[in-house]
Amino acid sequence: MDERGYARERRKRHDHYLKGTIWCGQCRLEQHVNRRMIFMRTTGRHGNANYGYFFCRGVQDHACDAPYSSIDRVEDAVAEHYKTIRLSPAFVTAVRNHIESALNDQVAAQQLLRKNLEDQLAQLTVKEDNLLDLAADSSLPQERIRQRLRDIARDRQRVTEQLSEVHCDLSSGRAFLDVHLDLLENPYELYLHASEATRRKLNQAIFAHVYVAHDEVIGDDIRSPLRELLAAERGWEALTAGATPEAARAATQAATARHSGPETPKAAPEGRPGRTNKPLA
Ligand SMILES: [Zn+2]
Repeated sequence: MDERGYARERRKRHDHYLKGTIWCGQCRLEQHVNRRMIFMRTTGRHGNANYGYFFCRGVQDHACDAPYSSIDRVEDAVAEHYKTIRLSPAFVTAVRNHIESALNDQVAAQQLLRKNLEDQLAQLTVKEDNLLDLAADSSLPQERIRQRLRDIARDRQRVTEQLSEVHCDLSSGRAFLDVHLDLLENPYELYLHASEATRRKLNQAIFAHVYVAHDEVIGDDIRSPLRELLAAERGWEALTAGATPEAARAATQAATARHSGPETPKAAPEGRPGRTNKPLA
C-alpha cells in the first residue's frame, strides 16, 4: 500500500462506503422498523489484525438481537445483489426506441407551435403598418387608432413571451433517462470495478435501503425512477413472453413491492404482544 492507501485505511476506521446504505434486515422483518447498521473496526490484541463488522443500532439498546455481520461478507453480498437489479438489453433498447420516437413527436409539435406564433407576430406587424398609414390621415379619429396600436403592442408582448417558452431541444430530458438506463444496464460490472467512493455514490443513487441479515442481503428499497424501470421491465417481459395484460400488470406490481423493502406484516401501533416491555394489564 502506498501512502494514500494507508491514509484511506485510517479514514475507514470511522467510515465505510456501505454506511448509510445497509439497514438491519431482522428489525425490518420482525418489527417493521428501519434501523441503521453501524460500522465498527477493532484492532487485534497485537495490533496486527483488523476486524471489521457491522451491527444493528438496536443492539445497543437491546431492541434487537441480530448477530454482528462480517464486513467482508456483507461487502460481497451487496456486490452480488447488484446482479439482481439488472435490466435486460432487449428492454433497454425498447425503452430507448420509445423515448426516441416520443421525443421526435414532441419536437415536431413544438416546431409547429413556433411556426404558428411567428406567423401571428408577422400578422401583427402588418396590422400595425396599416394603422400607422391611417394615422397619417388626420381626418380619421386618432384616439381610436392609438387604442388599437396599444392593443397590438400588448398582443405582441404576449406572443413573444409564448415564443420564448417553446423549446425544440429536448436532449436534456433524454440525457436524464439515459443516465438511469445506463446505470441499470450492467450495474454489477459497474459496481465490481468501481472505487469505494464510486461504490458509495452508486449505492446512494440506487438504494434507499439495503437490508442485511446474517451476512446476506434479504431485500432492498430502490429509489425512483429506477424502481419503476425495474418493475416495468418485469411486466414487459411477461407481455413479450405471451402473458395476459392482467398477468403482466401483476408481475409489475410484484416487482414494485419486492423493491419497496422486504414484505412484512404491518407493525401493530402499540403494545404488540411479545414486543413490549410493559407488563400486560
Ligand atoms: Zn436490528
